[in-house]
Amino acid sequence: MEAKDTVMSPEMKVDILKDCRHRGETMLPKLIINLTEAQAEISFKAGIKEMVKWGSEPCVGHKRGIFKHQCHLCWQAKLKEWGLDAKKEGEE
Ligand SMILES: [Zn+2]
Repeated sequence: MEAKDTVMSPEMKVDILKDCRHRGETMLPKLIINLTEAQAEISFKAGIKEMVKWGSEPCVGHKRGIFKHQCHLCWQAKLKEWGLDAKKEGEE
């Protein structure tokens, strides 16, 4: 899954704007805040779901019978894929 796959549907945006209008919130900044907060929640939940799904997959090629969330090597590979691995001093 990529970030673009978590963008809320046009229908959901319309529903949020209708809900804002129903509550008397018609100022643009408030509408933008409502939309972006709803979008952030969608993306945040999708990220958690993606992470749980990954961790529940079996470790491949390191140790039999464990899941990726139990495998230090799978974890390090995932961090590297995300660019979050601890790099040694002087490395880019
Ligand atoms: Zn592994």
